[in-house]
Formats: sequence, structure tokens, C-alpha cells
Amino acid sequence: MNERQSVLIVDDEVSNIEILSAALEDDYEIYFSTSGAEAIDVARTNLPDLILLDVLMPGLDGYEVCSLLKADPIIGDVPIIFTTALGDRDAEVRGLMLGAIDYITKPISPVAVRARVRNHLDMKRMRDQLAEMAVTDALTGLGNRRRLERALDQDTLRLAASGALLSLVFVDIDFFKRYNDSYGHTAGDRCLSMVAAALKRTMNRAADVAVRYGGEEFACVLPECSHEEAMEVAHQIHRRVQLLDIPHKTSDTASFVTVSVGVATAACALGASPEAWVRAADEQLYLAKSAGRNQVLGTQFVLAV
Ligand code: GH3
Ligand code: MG
Ligand code: MG
Repeated sequence: MNERQSVLIVDDEVSNIEILSAALEDDYEIYFSTSGAEAIDVARTNLPDLILLDVLMPGLDGYEVCSLLKADPIIGDVPIIFTTALGDRDAEVRGLMLGAIDYITKPISPVAVRARVRNHLDMKRMRDQLAEMAVTDALTGLGNRRRLERALDQDTLRLAASGALLSLVFVDIDFFKRYNDSYGHTAGDRCLSMVAAALKRTMNRAADVAVRYGGEEFACVLPECSHEEAMEVAHQIHRRVQLLDIPHKTSDTASFVTVSVGVATAACALGASPEAWVRAADEQLYLAKSAGRNQVLGTQFVLAV
């Protein structure tokens, strides 16, 4: 999180952009645009940490741009500071009502701009860190259950129109309670971290997400992944955990730590609930446990919508 933060400056007057940019360019990455329509494109492409937005512009004015940005699922969270003419109270209030976080008055004072921008970017960084922590598992560094649920929601929605396949993989360590009893809770934690790392190494596409679902249970969302490919990933996970060769003297399946894996694949469809994948993968995992553990079972199912 130490990389430079970025600021998008939007103003139809190039001289204003130059003044703002001169005040900020030593500390931040600067993007700029001279029209509202272009600003929306630039924001979508570069995802700045903060936007300085002029109110009065030909074409889309600052208010319209602000409303459009705030409605965007990806850039809606980016803080916006309006730049307004000094003493224009109505403009300030209207901007704040639309969701802007602050305003800066023209003529621009570089010192005041730097201070305000720094304050807001510090807050933005803290907010981003908290948001990241909220979806991260502290022990393993993988995502947590919330992260999985979010990925499932987003991916099933995104793929509904094309009807693409999505697979969910559930992984559960066998006889892990006995592992803790034999080796202690700290060794148990280490074992969880090693299994998590093996899982992470197996994810080979950017869209694949592996999480610790809870306790000694892990899950992976594999969007646009056929059942055969998902089964291959599942077998790889199963094999890689075996290859870790973590001794487990009280397991009934082997002398080392093993996992059971359940896989569920279905074509995404409009109105389909992500819950269906969770239920199906969980059922496969349950069947794998009942059949003696240390194995991979999967199903390809059709969603009831
Ligand atoms: P099965 O083969 O049927 O999955 O049996 P199991 O013992 O693995 O499953 P069970 O659900 O009975 O026990 C899970 C154990 O995982 C119990 C709990 O103490 C342990 N556990 C859960 N979270 C943690 C953790 O964060 N650290 C450690 N060390 N152990 C954990
Ligand atoms: Mg278990
Ligand atoms: Mg369990």
C-alpha cells in the first residue's frame, strides 16, 4: 500500500489544471481531463484515489458528472472534491448533497489544496485498508468467507447473460480436530497456513479466488471454468496437500494430512442464487467425507430458476 496515490483533475480551463497539477504532482500521480464525458472514461480506466471536479463546464457539468460517477459500481466510492468559485454557497451545498466529500474554492490556493487533498487521501487509504481487512483471513492471508460470497455474487451476475459455466470447490481437512489434539493448536494454525498456501499456488487465473471459508474449510470460485477443468484443479489441490507431507499420526486416512474436496459446476443464469453452488459443493464434500475422506467428488448440475 505504499505506492503513490492518484488524483484525477477535471476542469475545462487548462490554466486551472496546470495550477492544481503543479500543487500536487510532486506527491501524487496526476490524471486530467478537460470535459465531463472524458473524465468518466478516464476515471473508469485509471481508478484514481480522488477526483477534483470543476462545477462549471460546457457539456456535462460537474453535478452531472458527479451523479454519474456516484452511480457507477466501481468508481462510486472514489471521493470527489468540487472546485467552485469563491463565495458560491449554493454550488457548495449542491455538490455536498450529491455526495462530494469537500469543495475547494477558486482562485486556488496551492497550500490549502495540498492540505485538503492530503487529508482526504489519508482517509481514503485507511478506508481501503479497512475494506481489505474486512475480506481477508488474518491467519492465512487468503480471502475470507465474505470475500467468497462477494466474488460469487459478482461472477454469477456478470456471467448470467452469457450463460457461462462457473465452478465452486470446497476443501476440508480430514480429522483436523484430532490433528489439534495430537500436535497442539499452534501446530494446527501452521498446518492451516500451509494448506492455504498450497491452495493459493493452485489458482492459475486472475479471476480465480481462493478463501478460507471457516475453521479448516477452504473454498475456491472458478468463473468460466468447465467441470473437467474444475475437477483437475480439485485433484491438484488434493495432491498438493498430500505432497506437503505434514505428519498426522491420528488420521484414519493416511500418516500425513489429507483433504476431502467437493466440486459443483453449473451454467450461470439470470435470477440464479449463488446459494445453489454452495449447497451443491457442500453436498459433494459431505459425500466425499462419508465415502471415506481423502478424495475428490464433483457434480455438474442445472440451476432451478
Ligand atoms: P472431518 O474429517 O470430518 O472434517 O473431521 P474434522 O475433525 O476435520 O472436523 P471437525 O469439524 O470435527 O473439527 C474441525 C476442527 O478444526 C475443530 C477446531 O478446533 C479446528 N479449528 C477450527 N478453526 C481453527 C483454527 O483457526 N486453528 C486451529 N488450530 N484449529 C482450528
Ligand atoms: Mg475437517
Ligand atoms: Mg469442517
